[in-house]
Amino acid sequence: MRSVIVIGGGISGLAAAWQLREGADVTVLEAGTRVGGKLRTGTVAGIGVDEGADSLMALRSEAVELATAVGLGPSLCDPAPSPTTIWTDGALRPLPAGHVMGIPTHPATLADSGLLSPEGIARAAEEETLPARPLVGDCSVAEYLSARFGREVVDRLVEPLLGGVYAGRADRLSLHAALPRIAALAEQGAPLLPALRRLRTAGAPRPPVVAVHGVVGGAGRFPEAVARACGARVLTGTTARSLDRIAGDRWRVRAVTDDGVLTMEADAVVLALPAFAAAELLRPHSPLAEAELAAVPYASTAVITMAFSRARANPLPEGNGFLVPPTDGHTLKAASFLSNKWSWLREASPETFVLRASIGRVGEAEPLARPDRHLIRAAVSDLHRAVGPMGEPLAARVTRWDRGLPQYGVGHRERVVRIREAAGKLPGLALCGAAYEGVGVAACVATGRAAAKRILSGA
Ligand SMILES: Cc1cc2nc3c(=O)[nH]c(=O)nc-3n(C[C@H](O)[C@H](O)[C@H](O)COP(=O)(O)OP(=O)(O)OC[C@H]3O[C@@H](n4cnc5c(N)ncnc54)[C@H](O)[C@@H]3O)c2cc1C
Repeated sequence: MRSVIVIGGGISGLAAAWQLREGADVTVLEAGTRVGGKLRTGTVAGIGVDEGADSLMALRSEAVELATAVGLGPSLCDPAPSPTTIWTDGALRPLPAGHVMGIPTHPATLADSGLLSPEGIARAAEEETLPARPLVGDCSVAEYLSARFGREVVDRLVEPLLGGVYAGRADRLSLHAALPRIAALAEQGAPLLPALRRLRTAGAPRPPVVAVHGVVGGAGRFPEAVARACGARVLTGTTARSLDRIAGDRWRVRAVTDDGVLTMEADAVVLALPAFAAAELLRPHSPLAEAELAAVPYASTAVITMAFSRARANPLPEGNGFLVPPTDGHTLKAASFLSNKWSWLREASPETFVLRASIGRVGEAEPLARPDRHLIRAAVSDLHRAVGPMGEPLAARVTRWDRGLPQYGVGHRERVVRIREAAGKLPGLALCGAAYEGVGVAACVATGRAAAKRILSGA
């Protein structure tokens, strides 16, 4: 049986370990004190809440399938139905049904929404009459969509959603990598509006921000369950520092732990790491892979989870939360009303209202440079303006995700091809993680399983 070291105990690495469970002897090295990476359930006011990802896309099956396989099927739950809401121009304004990643498929329905000006609505509706040449190559989301629908659609509807999913900006994100379904339609060279309407009426899945599942007790249970079920040796508090080739095409990993240096050897390694961490380990083996990985930009964010007294926060906010367009100039990027969104949380803490606020988009260093107490103050102040006086939080917790989300810039897909080609020349090595083919948990599970299959195939 081949020995495999998986470096990185986030969901990508654990999915790889799960896939390898019957064909290899697996050790997972995780730098943190527990597995899960961006899937982590912590406590605020004694209540278990997710500090990172809380939703598994229903649009893709991989995460749900793995969660079910490791015994979490009965714990999967749906959020309360609620439209995506944008906090703009002093009010919370729901996006009309039928939007695709913020693009209104029937712009006229925005007339009384306050989301777009009358000129912005007219400009969006013009899309179906504009000549459309097939998109060739990649471009930014903003470049393509503002040419088709006008800048207001991008600034006020698409940007808030991209901020929520990627902590990214429309003028930097790749149309192909960030909005692949829209890029595929754009390549056909026909107006988008009729095609998007057909997608919706054909019963195509709804956008990931609304079509999700949660896990009763917190999505942090998911990686823990995979770690238990995969049968791998899981070493937490173990940071890989170097990777060396040794005789027989084997690999040696040197890692540091609280007790000193640990050296291990294996037939194969899976790097399930953020791009910048994988770059470090690959430096001696592939300058090309190292350079391309190091060039993947990342956005940092902070999640401020707060518990309010239901008795004092009156009236309580309705809906599942809101997103904020960057052009409105607020510190908050998004707020998620967890106690409304997840019934299990409401039942677990009926006296308390839990929400989380997010701050930070790519290129916005200033808000995150502030100390925790300032972030809490800024979040509470924006919340009061958005939903009315809620009183002060009973407890608050700031979780900083430094370089937490990879940014798929223009040309990202081609970069990933170059990385995979360069790494493919190293026998017994596979890469997986959020930096490659999707940042969502389901995409990460898919890359982890694909990396494991590559190793099992003897590559
Ligand atoms: C705040 C936030 C909210 C999100 N919400 C959602 C959501 O609701 N739904 C969704 O689908 N996606 C969401 N995402 C995205 C998704 O959670 C992540 O993209 C995904 O979990 C990344 O998994 P990963 O295993 O690739 O990487 P990570 O989770 O980053 O795991 C990598 C692991 O490697 C470890 N590591 C790093 N260096 C070393 C080293 N040298 N040696 C050993 N270990 C090392 C790290 O400690 C980490 O545990 C969210 C992301 C963030 C930041």
